[in-house]
Amino acid sequence: MTRIGLFGGTFDPIHFGHLRVAEELFYHLKLAQVLFIPAAQQPHKDIHGPVDFRHRLEMLKLAIEDRPGFSASDIEKDLPRPSYTVNTIRALKQKYAEELIFMVGFDSFSQIKKWRGHQELLALAPLAVFRRPGAEVDRTTLKTLLTEVVGAAPTWEPDLAAFSWPNRPLIYYYEGSSLYISSTDLRARLATGQSVRYLLPESVRQYLTQEGLYAPKLK
Ligand code: ATP
Repeated sequence: MTRIGLFGGTFDPIHFGHLRVAEELFYHLKLAQVLFIPAAQQPHKDIHGPVDFRHRLEMLKLAIEDRPGFSASDIEKDLPRPSYTVNTIRALKQKYAEELIFMVGFDSFSQIKKWRGHQELLALAPLAVFRRPGAEVDRTTLKTLLTEVVGAAPTWEPDLAAFSWPNRPLIYYYEGSSLYISSTDLRARLATGQSVRYLLPESVRQYLTQEGLYAPKLK
């Protein structure tokens, strides 16, 4: 069965940290496609005021336009807000016949107990949890968290690089190379007039400059 990896995020703005992990997971999980899904409104993020959905989607499209197999979804635009992941995955499961794998960094996944509908989410689709610099994780930490959330210890399946329980979707665990880049840091650099070159695609840098996004506030 063909597989699609779902990569949700604020992408405010998209950067090479996101793109690199998507590239690695594309091969690691043998995906036919990575679908990037910008959040219309994140429930668990500080309302620092992400730039308009339209701009975040446009930057995403520019970032991936040369990469066959990567595409952007605007599905959260039309879903109720805030954008709960469980609603998005439910909606996407109705739309796609392919196997869907939800990909998430450990910094987000570590908050899973606070996610609305997390039990349903874990029952709905396989997940791939990956490491991100600054949110160090190892298999043992992840196993402990999964045991707490599911209420039963999973078995590690080395051939699949995934945790399993009977009658439940797998949780893949991926520890690849990771780039120490965050959107928060990019926004801070832009707000103070510093360079962000080589941290994100040049087309995205040009777009956000032209549109005056994240620019220093005039005094
Ligand atoms: P912010 O700094 O605004 O919180 P962010 O850089 O964390 O933003 P998000 O759009 O919130 O970016 O991230 C979406 C997903 O991408 C999350 O699952 C997150 O773990 C992952 N991610 C973000 N940056 C990196 C990175 N440098 N390496 C690997 N994964 C990343």
